[in-house]
Amino acid sequence: MINIAKGTQDLLPEVTSDWQYVENKLREIAQNYNYKEIRTPIFEHTELFTRGVGGSTDIVQKEMYTFTDKGDRSITLRPEGTAPVVRSYIENKMHGYANQPIKLFYEGPMFRYERKQKGRYRQFVQFGVEAIGAEDPAIDAEIIAMVMDIYQSFGLKKLKLYINSIGDIDSRSEYNKALVEHFKPSIEEFCSDCHQRIDTNPMRILDCKKDREHPLVKSAPTIYDYLNDDSKQYFEQVKLYLDQLGIDYEVDTNLVRGLDYYTHTAFEVMSDAEGFGAITTLCGGGRYNGLLEMLDGPNETGIGFALSIERLLLALEAEGIEIEHDDALDLFIATLDEDSKQYAVQLLHRLRKAGIRADTDYKSRKLKGQMKQADRERAKYTIVLGENEIKNQQVKLKDMNDGGEQIIELSSLTDELKERLS
Ligand code: ATP
Ligand code: MG
Repeated sequence: MINIAKGTQDLLPEVTSDWQYVENKLREIAQNYNYKEIRTPIFEHTELFTRGVGGSTDIVQKEMYTFTDKGDRSITLRPEGTAPVVRSYIENKMHGYANQPIKLFYEGPMFRYERKQKGRYRQFVQFGVEAIGAEDPAIDAEIIAMVMDIYQSFGLKKLKLYINSIGDIDSRSEYNKALVEHFKPSIEEFCSDCHQRIDTNPMRILDCKKDREHPLVKSAPTIYDYLNDDSKQYFEQVKLYLDQLGIDYEVDTNLVRGLDYYTHTAFEVMSDAEGFGAITTLCGGGRYNGLLEMLDGPNETGIGFALSIERLLLALEAEGIEIEHDDALDLFIATLDEDSKQYAVQLLHRLRKAGIRADTDYKSRKLKGQMKQADRERAKYTIVLGENEIKNQQVKLKDMNDGGEQIIELSSLTDELKERLS
């Protein structure tokens, strides 16, 4: 027997209705904020990610599914959505569109070679949004408001929003110098990844999962002291908008996102529900002012976030929120013999074309077995077709909810059901 690949999962019919519900709601909310869907390929040239995500990140160093295709090109299964969306923005010259910023959302599988644990898969589904082509604190606030709106609209309450500013590129480089001075003398006490980070991207030491308890991480200088006036003012305005929208947040000066191209606003939403498990990050996002130029694009800026549906579902479970869905059958047709079965097939076809969810028995079960099947499908109505029903062109329509029965002409069954179901 061949088993499923590690870190992936089959979504069985028992859970796909939850997924559909979540996906529909995400789309609906994105549209309320006037974000439109973009679909980019599942694989891209590897260079898009090594350049666009950054060589010092875990994603590029350890997590990419990279292979050489038959044309000798290096191809990578997308590990995240921002670089592909920005590539598409540049390639399709969206900066030339009249309405800026371009507001996009995407939804689809991402691939990262990671150690499997609760809430961490090798294939997972991200929903993300990007607003590209405007540098305005109001857009940053809009994006953050939208994330919180999303989680709250599912009924989640145990949420924490952390925000930070990592400043513009000048502030960052001053800060990085200070971090090198702070960590360099004791870098031997840190993990091997941090040995590299001190040279490639010192800010990421603050983000290290292994060394987070090291006293030097706690005593590290904060970005706040290195923000220049423009960066400070930008951050103040983002916070002011959030205050005006009544959105609670906490400033976490150690919050540096894992990706290299972030500037200014960075944020994360965590769940503090009991039972969520070790990983509590639901969503991450931030502003990327250097990315477009890094990908040979125009001098435009963007901001976005990404969340995974897997972790959203985990949060719902942790808070005991059940998703209601309507996948019950409208009508089950039980049949008594071969002739009524033949009749049922035609009747079903008409009902389904009229938009009624209907089904019948295909295993020649006895009537009792067929009724059990109808129960398992939570059928709202049932009819039993036999010789008499077909001869008289009448059936007893049974309401499975209250057990009530009514004789209906077969010719008006569709209309009767449509009326009762509406
Ligand atoms: P983490 O610190 O958990 O590894 P990350 O910094 O790698 O997260 P991002 O690249 O910012 O995460 O991705 C955005 C969101 O995607 C995360 O907040 C999380 O909800 C989700 N996510 C990331 N990796 C996975 C994964 N392997 N499985 C499921 N969801 C994931
Ligand atoms: Mg990760």
